[in-house]
Amino acid sequence: MDRKNFNTISVENGVPIKAWTKGVPVDAAAEQQLRNVAGLPFVFHHVAAMPDVHWGMGATIGSVIATRKAIIPAAVGVDIGCGMMAVRTNLPAARLPDDLRSIRLAIEAAVPHGRTDNGGANDRGAWGEVPQAAVNVWAGLAQDFARLCERTPTLARSRSIHHLGTLGTGNHFIELCLDEADALWVMLHSGSRGVGNRIGAVFIELAKKEMERFFVHLPDADLAYLPQGTEHFADYMRAVSWAQKFARANRQLMMDGVLAALAQFFPDIETDEMAVNCHHNYVDTEEHFGETVLITRKGAVRARMGDLGIIPGSMGARSFIVRGKGNPESFCSCSHGAGRLMSRNQATRQFSLEDHAVATAHVECRKDGGVLDETPGAYKDVDAVMNAQADLVDIVHTLRQVVCVKG
Ligand code: 5GP
Ligand code: MN
Ligand code: MN
Repeated sequence: MDRKNFNTISVENGVPIKAWTKGVPVDAAAEQQLRNVAGLPFVFHHVAAMPDVHWGMGATIGSVIATRKAIIPAAVGVDIGCGMMAVRTNLPAARLPDDLRSIRLAIEAAVPHGRTDNGGANDRGAWGEVPQAAVNVWAGLAQDFARLCERTPTLARSRSIHHLGTLGTGNHFIELCLDEADALWVMLHSGSRGVGNRIGAVFIELAKKEMERFFVHLPDADLAYLPQGTEHFADYMRAVSWAQKFARANRQLMMDGVLAALAQFFPDIETDEMAVNCHHNYVDTEEHFGETVLITRKGAVRARMGDLGIIPGSMGARSFIVRGKGNPESFCSCSHGAGRLMSRNQATRQFSLEDHAVATAHVECRKDGGVLDETPGAYKDVDAVMNAQADLVDIVHTLRQVVCVKG
């Protein structure tokens, strides 16, 4: 195994950056962010940058940050527990009809998606039609959420715990894909929705207040941190782990909904044991280089030896089911996608509806101006991204989408 697939960048008064970015573009703003993080006194050993690295609030998307005795809420981000789920079905490609539109519409009808703020039409505020299993999941989460709100009352302003089982907007999606053996997969991308966003935003603000209170100056105010031993640190760690649980359950419930929608067309549909449900925005306690540390993966997936993960490409590019190689230099991680090549605004300016139609010609998906900021050209070349992390993961399956539902 080539362990020197990464470049090491040394940082004055900080830990080094190890970057798996050979052959992929990295914007200058992202590199500056990596340097800012590497200079923080509680960052452990090095900062790992994945090949999909690009600018994000505070910390770079596509980075892995190990910390001792402190956490940066903005590095976990506001979509706490965002991630991917994929399952393989028993259906061969030959069973799919030529016109996939009715299947896409059935999925769109089964899973609330798009804007759900303030209890809009897609909010599952009324639990009447929801299966009993989902109600039980919701009840458990609601009880724990009430406890979080007792500790941090401002969290309670969000009634978006009702978003459980809903997709969200923009970058979140549900896809039907075919693998190299022409087996049908269901894959989806979502996180902890409005309630996770609230938790993230509240604790980012609290961390900023702490910085002011103790006269801590940071190169970027969004890198505000909560030191271990403080009240807010403990409350945040509890809340973040709750949001991660919510996100995982959210994906499972939507998967159940999509499979139920597909069963209308294919009553004999079954899924096999090849199911993956992984976060790509989260924090966990792990052992690295002989120490127990907090690992924040912001747009990165855990890739310990044998771990299965999902690396999506874009609305038009291929996606990959991968198996981790357990490379310790990456803190056992890999990229969480191809990564943005440009901002949403730039993509909307640069690409036309024709460009989008050509790039997604093989996919049953939206072709309107509302998804231009998500067009395949707005993302990096996923093949280059996979090449750059050949020492982090093996490709187990290559998926090409046939249906894509965007939030
Ligand atoms: P993020 O979580 O940062 O919003 O997105 C994760 C990754 O998903 C992106 O870097 C991109 O490579 C990929 N992606 C975005 N939209 C789609 C889509 O519609 N389908 C697929 N398969 N991948 C997508
Ligand atoms: Mn998300
Ligand atoms: Mn995501």
